[in-house]
Amino acid sequence: MNAIKSKRNKNRAHTRLKPKNGGQSRRPKRQSSIVDSDLLIKRATNKEEVIYEAHRSFDDMPIDSRLKRNLAKKGFVKPSQIQDESLDLLKSGRNFIGIANTGTGKTAAFLIPIIERLLRQREQQTALVVVPTRELALQVEKEFISLTTGLGLYASSYIGGTSVNKDIGKLKRKSHVIIGTPGRLIDLINQKALRLNRTPILVLDEFDRMLDMGFVRDIKRIVEGMTSRRQTMLFSATIDKSQKDLIKTLVKNPVEIKVNSGTSSSDKVDQDIIKVPTGANKFKMMTDLISGAGFDKVLVFAETKRWVDRVTKKLNQAGITADQIHGNKSQNYRNNALAKFKKGSVQVLVATDVAARGIDVTGITHVINYQLPMSLDSYIHRIGRTGRAGKTGKAFTFVD
Ligand code: ADP
Ligand code: MG
Repeated sequence: MNAIKSKRNKNRAHTRLKPKNGGQSRRPKRQSSIVDSDLLIKRATNKEEVIYEAHRSFDDMPIDSRLKRNLAKKGFVKPSQIQDESLDLLKSGRNFIGIANTGTGKTAAFLIPIIERLLRQREQQTALVVVPTRELALQVEKEFISLTTGLGLYASSYIGGTSVNKDIGKLKRKSHVIIGTPGRLIDLINQKALRLNRTPILVLDEFDRMLDMGFVRDIKRIVEGMTSRRQTMLFSATIDKSQKDLIKTLVKNPVEIKVNSGTSSSDKVDQDIIKVPTGANKFKMMTDLISGAGFDKVLVFAETKRWVDRVTKKLNQAGITADQIHGNKSQNYRNNALAKFKKGSVQVLVATDVAARGIDVTGITHVINYQLPMSLDSYIHRIGRTGRAGKTGKAFTFVD
């Protein structure tokens, strides 16, 4: 501990961390829309927490026995609320809007009915799943693989940052479920490598994030090409009034299910701010914090790629193992960093918002915002990375 401390002091992290011209010289400084930082102080409400208790287990549900076996192998016994309330509707082919926080099991909610259909009739490209980020695409693919072990069903994912030519080759192989991010899907459609005119099911996952990220036009184009579309499932943590009209054009006559209880993330997270006095060494404040007991798996957010890079380097120099993910890192690099963080071979993962969207790593003990997030919405998504699966998490936000 002492050795680390003295090393840290010698680093004089603050001088090097403070970039010239305030660090944002090339871009106008963006201002966070969070004005009242008291909003970021909150005790986890474990006592009042309502855990949804399904009255049936997966075994009692109208699910193929082979799929039931895979669910059991994953340790899924009872459905989450969204899974419980949507399965029958989705199996009957209804259009669907599911509003639920992160960590409520939306992935399996849409994958189970898709797999059910595939077990009844196997058809190439039954479903297209559109997600906002690469990480999320890989996660959905992984969940599909574990749910379909031994069933001879295949999914493939198409994401930016990988070779387009490889993707074109991949599309020639058998794939029952296509998963992708909007940009890459559009690329493949433009190259006539991906044809969606016979794909009946569309899933739009994390729809609010996709809108935030400016994917509206891409989504509209993708949808236009799905001329045989029979069923659309749209999932979102929130739905803004201003988005209602757009959603109406994408999903006709839907049933809407809203789930707020259960693993609602932000209620299960102890949240606090750390005020940084003028002239104080914020970076040292953070390393001291992370060196404390219980900071086993720490996700740190920084606003820009450059900040992520810088913070990661400084953490490692201070003797705290850290890796990073952001948009300029190759997909391979990002996967690797995520895997190391999952395994626990690095203590800290430093990320930008975009890179971290939808990441599901169990057991994240702390989320730290090195800078104030740009919006409350982004804040809620970030802290939702901890406090999952019945555990209480902690979130700290540095406020200058
Ligand atoms: P969301 O998409 O709503 O954020 P996910 O689908 O990523 O949530 O699920 C969150 C976590 O909960 C994942 O680790 C997933 O494997 C797990 N999970 C989902 N459904 C169940 C279930 N019925 N029982 C136990 N764990 C589940
Ligand atoms: Mg999800």
